[in-house]
Amino acid sequence: MQVWKFGGTSVGKPERMHSIRNLITADSGRKIVVLSALSGTTNSLLSMGESAKSGNEEELAGKIAELRAHYDAFVKELLVSPEGLANGQQIVEKEFSFIQSVTSIRPFTLKQEKELVAQGELMSTQLFQAYLEEQGESSVLLPALEFMLIDADNEPVLSHTEEALGQMLLQHADKQLVITQGFICRNPRGEVDNLKRGGSDYTASLIGGAIRAEEIQIWTDIDGMHNNDPRIVRKTFPIRELTFEEAAELAYFGAKILHPSTITPAKLRGVPVRLKNTMEPEAFGTLIATKSSDREIKAIAAKDGITAVYIHSTRMLNAYGFLRRVFEVFEKYKTPVDMITTSEISVSVTIDNPENLEAISAELRQFADLEDHDYNQTIICIVGNFSADKEGVALKVLEAMKNIPIRMISYGGSEHNISILVDGKFKADALNALNERLFYYEDAMKGIFTAP
Ligand code: ADP
Ligand code: ASP
Ligand code: MG
Repeated sequence: MQVWKFGGTSVGKPERMHSIRNLITADSGRKIVVLSALSGTTNSLLSMGESAKSGNEEELAGKIAELRAHYDAFVKELLVSPEGLANGQQIVEKEFSFIQSVTSIRPFTLKQEKELVAQGELMSTQLFQAYLEEQGESSVLLPALEFMLIDADNEPVLSHTEEALGQMLLQHADKQLVITQGFICRNPRGEVDNLKRGGSDYTASLIGGAIRAEEIQIWTDIDGMHNNDPRIVRKTFPIRELTFEEAAELAYFGAKILHPSTITPAKLRGVPVRLKNTMEPEAFGTLIATKSSDREIKAIAAKDGITAVYIHSTRMLNAYGFLRRVFEVFEKYKTPVDMITTSEISVSVTIDNPENLEAISAELRQFADLEDHDYNQTIICIVGNFSADKEGVALKVLEAMKNIPIRMISYGGSEHNISILVDGKFKADALNALNERLFYYEDAMKGIFTAP
């Protein structure tokens, strides 16, 4: 059994849903099809939530009407038979009456916001299921809210999915196509919750891990993981193979094509992940599994919104106790540290969640001096095979960065990651400079790569 996930742009137009039906039925194996909300819907729902929070009723009504018009037009193109269309219109009517009622609750809290934002995936899957029914396909829609669960630390409970979904799949053993929602889940209080922005990829991987799928396929609007961010860098190309470790680093450090945690469950259960382009299904895409090519430098990714914290030991403390105390503070506030660099009396770290920074700083000041934090920093992460016997990688990276101020460098933490911290304003220049030096400078001369 395979798990195929289709993202927002892949379901965002009626004709795309038509193509997805062709894709999932062309291949005969049993599949779980995970869908995101139609592109733009999640942003639109969140924006309604903002209007509801601030009590701007007119603005809210305008936003609801605008999205409603979009869905009214969508079903008319998606469904062609009178029964099919009536079914689709009923789904839209029911969903929008829920949207109307949830956004009218005051005060509008996080609980309501999560219920509201879940409607995107609930609508896309019901409409797709209605379309499959109209077309006479044998499929079933299974509600993710009955088998996707997060714990009190917002961590998915894989064993719950394994058990609950396992049973549901047995009950519907006659169905070749199983449709479900990405992104949404329940929390330990039984409320509707989600796996954070872009979370449908994570759903697909969690399901794939839970059922020990043959393969997880993430279908999106680009032909695989590129060697650099195609939104910012002029020349990029798809990478055919990546190891789980390499892909996990790229996703964690900002390659938007994958939710940061996507690779974890797949790796845990050894399920290969394939990235495919819905608009160009014949393109190879990227296969993420246990092996990859020998190429030294594979790809570059960037993670924004980073805060750098500079900590200096005060003399009163023995040097050997210092790092432990520093990290205990971050642990206490459940704040992950991404990069670390140290000198004899100082340690610099970066965090991407500044929520508890004030409390963390106050505790650190009890035994250390702090410099002013640097906000809006970007971690640039270079991923590849940098085992100790490989020479010259760091030199190439530094050559590329010769005109860009570097705040921190981390090399040697793992064999497949070099990280550099720069001010966010230098991100585009840094990514382009690294791209030229690491992927085109020598290879162009040797003729190894011809970028598409
Ligand atoms: P979906 O809606 O299908 O989940 P996303 O927009 O979340 O799609 O992810 C696909 C987008 O990720 C691409 O259109 C591309 O602009 C962006 N992206 C950023 N970095 C990379 C990368 N290294 N490789 C491929 N795509 C990337
Ligand atoms: N619809 C959600 C989002 O836009 C989840 C996803 O698309 O993966 O973030
Ligand atoms: Mg996405």
